[in-house]
Amino acid sequence: MNYKIALIRGDGIGPEIVGEAVKVLERVGEKFGHSYEFVEILMGGCASDAVGMAYPEGTAEQCKACDAVLLGAVGTPKWGPDKPTHQRPETALLAIRKDLGLYANLRPAVLRAPLADACPLKKETAQKGIDLMMVRELTGGVYFGKRDRYQTEDRGVECTDLMAYSEREIERIGRRAFELARLRRGKVSSVDKANVLETSRLWRSVMHRLAEEYTDVAYEDVLVDNCAMQLVRDPAQFDVLVTENMFGDILSDEASMITGSIGLLPSASIGDTAPGLYEPIHGSAPDIAGQDKANPIATILSAAMMFRYSFQRPQEADAIEKAVDAVLAEGWRTADIAEPGVTPIGTRKMGELICGSI
Ligand code: NAD
Repeated sequence: MNYKIALIRGDGIGPEIVGEAVKVLERVGEKFGHSYEFVEILMGGCASDAVGMAYPEGTAEQCKACDAVLLGAVGTPKWGPDKPTHQRPETALLAIRKDLGLYANLRPAVLRAPLADACPLKKETAQKGIDLMMVRELTGGVYFGKRDRYQTEDRGVECTDLMAYSEREIERIGRRAFELARLRRGKVSSVDKANVLETSRLWRSVMHRLAEEYTDVAYEDVLVDNCAMQLVRDPAQFDVLVTENMFGDILSDEASMITGSIGLLPSASIGDTAPGLYEPIHGSAPDIAGQDKANPIATILSAAMMFRYSFQRPQEADAIEKAVDAVLAEGWRTADIAEPGVTPIGTRKMGELICGSI
């Protein structure tokens, strides 16, 4: 096959980690007989530097002409919250998700066996294993709701952020979760705050309707506060967790932390028609940018997810994941995951070793 892939290298460590993922893609291409056309796209702080806006016109159209998008990370201290909205990298991230209709964010949180010691949970909890998939709604809820800020007569400034969800939005993310559970261990945990929020009560009723349809999948409701606790108490109980945008934002960071390092976890954002977007869950790590210190594994595993979810090529995905596990099992570590006494290797060396293991 020939795949057309948009590369958004972005800021900070973005270019370094995407560079290693591209090497891995090339290696997979050699082994499985695929070729690629890479389309370089400028987005984020680097785009603000070059053309004065973080999300240059035509970005979405360029991406839509590709089979998938691989994103490193965007964000630099130079284009922080004090800068105009159109120059801030976060604006670009929200816009690309919306423009490509990427309403489902898939974040696997897996404790890889060679790194079991990096898990901050109790040993007996870690030994039960962690292998869950967080499915976060990505284009609705409070992050996209109407905002307001106004002066009151007696209470100073007041602000509001509207949280809205429609049945359609809930149903399409719910279906993704149930379909994924069928390919995994067959359990969906739906996270909400139905004891307080009206949006959650609607969420729950739609999920219950779907649960009646997917009778082969086990289903449970979990309140978001309880979920935060259960993730550190007994994460092995979860298979697929599905939740709305803000709850998912917070819980997926918690889920990533219990697996050891932010540098290991990939993500996929997918919609119904447009190309999927694949990116590590971490940011642009400006503190280590350009020093050959970044862990490229999260980006490399994002490329594996691209094969699995956009190209329907599970064998290629498995080959990448197995190569990562093999290199970790041999004891190779970048600085973020190096145990005391282990000499860390750099970004490029980690990429080379993974390629060599495919
Ligand atoms: P961050 O994820 O960039 O960094 C947090 C810490 O983790 C830092 O100490 C960093 O060095 C370390 N780290 C992150 N990725 C690593 C890797 N691959 N290997 C080794 N260490 C790694 O989060 P932050 O510091 O809060 O944000 C920095 C910038 O990234 C900000 O501008 C933020 O807006 C942006 N950001 C972008 C995205 C994205 O592009 N999707 C996501 C989150 C943050």
